[in-house]
Amino acid sequence: MEGQIAMGATDARRQPDDGDRRRSDLTNRLLVQVPAAQADDFWSVGDQGGGGIVVSGARALFAAFGRAREMPAQPVLVDRRRYSGGNRASGTARFDPSWIEQQRDLRTAVVLTDSGYVGQGDQKALTSILEQAGRAGDDVCAVLPLHLSWLADRRVELLIGELNQHEVPAALVLEHRKDPLATQYAVNGLKHLLDEAQVPVSLLSTDISGVGAMAHGAAWAAVGITSALRHLYPAGNAGPPFPPPPARYAIVPKLMTFMNVERIAEGWARAQCNEDLIEDLWRCDCVECGYRTMDRFVTCTGLSLAAHNIGVLDDLHQKVTGPASWERAIKDALDIYGLMQDEYRLTWRPPEFMNAWLPRFRR
Ligand SMILES: [Zn+2]
Repeated sequence: MEGQIAMGATDARRQPDDGDRRRSDLTNRLLVQVPAAQADDFWSVGDQGGGGIVVSGARALFAAFGRAREMPAQPVLVDRRRYSGGNRASGTARFDPSWIEQQRDLRTAVVLTDSGYVGQGDQKALTSILEQAGRAGDDVCAVLPLHLSWLADRRVELLIGELNQHEVPAALVLEHRKDPLATQYAVNGLKHLLDEAQVPVSLLSTDISGVGAMAHGAAWAAVGITSALRHLYPAGNAGPPFPPPPARYAIVPKLMTFMNVERIAEGWARAQCNEDLIEDLWRCDCVECGYRTMDRFVTCTGLSLAAHNIGVLDDLHQKVTGPASWERAIKDALDIYGLMQDEYRLTWRPPEFMNAWLPRFRR
């Protein structure tokens, strides 16, 4: 299972069935998705949990070529993300054959298509991607950057039908301004898709919900190291012309939530005024943090912050083995939110993905 890139360095070991073997190697892996420009900085984080790394953007291949052979144990993928930004390509755009071929040269764990975007009801774009991916070879996984309406009742049936008809593995990229999996309709659509698809379905550019998706049968999931890589922003939502520096987010382990680091520090400051301080809630025992208090995230390096986030996600991924343990993890986090309110009067609202993943009748 391990070592496919090392094998790639020895051409004599390339076998005709490499595509199948490498693809199955990704099963149940939690990967880290990084921008190409920061691949060097964050490469070690991708290797940390042994899940692998997805290098993203137009220069992803260049960045991955520079590093891949130095980290033989780690699966490497490249996602061109032609589907993102103001001038994004349509899903009807032709794939670039050299982008596919160079991934084979690099011996990526799976070959990801350089797909364009699939808008609301744009079945032509969807079938164009699946047809091209089917023709491109057995080692190819179709990247499907989707308007969220593709997870709604009727559309998801159409999507499932197309996937099963074309028999092409797919990696979804879900579009939303904040969190695509914050509503029951989207989560239920995804669960249904994972139940019914007869091909491996994975998630690119996701967040904590990626662990839930794997609990419900997704083959693998790639969590963005930056908030911009944790979902697909709608075009035209680029924000102000001179945006402030992006906020830093850390996962609070017991709350299972990406939270602004300033907010965490404020909570810790308030909690220390409380006589019944439960220190465990405010310290992190991941390898990177070593049980330090979480106010450190305000001043720590980006690399340390990322190492913490991925360490916590890896822990969660180890604990969550199916739908029941995923729901249990969410309920435990919701209980801690209640405790934060009762003990410290912190009126932090749980993120909406939590209720979205819980079956309605059990809430
Ligand atoms: Zn930590």
